[in-house]
Amino acid sequence: MLVIECPWCGPRAESEFNCGGEADIARPLEPEKLTDKEWGDYLFMRKNPRGVHREQWLHTQGCRRWFMATRDTVTYAIQGYEKFGGAESNAAARKGTQGDK
Ligand SMILES: [Zn+2]
Repeated sequence: MLVIECPWCGPRAESEFNCGGEADIARPLEPEKLTDKEWGDYLFMRKNPRGVHREQWLHTQGCRRWFMATRDTVTYAIQGYEKFGGAESNAAARKGTQGDK
C-alpha cells in the first residue's frame, strides 16, 4: 500500500485518498468555439505517461482537500506534493496549465 503525504494532515494510507487523474488540465476559455473533437479531447484524452507525471489527489477520508503529487507511474514513488495556489501552482498558471478542481 502506498503511503501518501497530505500537505495538511501528513502521511496517511492510500485508502484514505482518491486520485483525480492528471493535473494541469486547463479548461478552455471559450468552450463554445471548440469543435466536438477539441471538446472531447479536453474532457477525455489524457497523457497516461510511463514515468514521472503530476496528478491530483483528494484526501477523501481526512481533510477533504485537493492537492497535487508528482509520481513515477513505473515505481509508484511519489517525488513531491504541492497545494493548489502555492508557488509551484502559480508557475503552472503562467504556462496556462493550472488544473480546474
Ligand atoms: Zn488531509
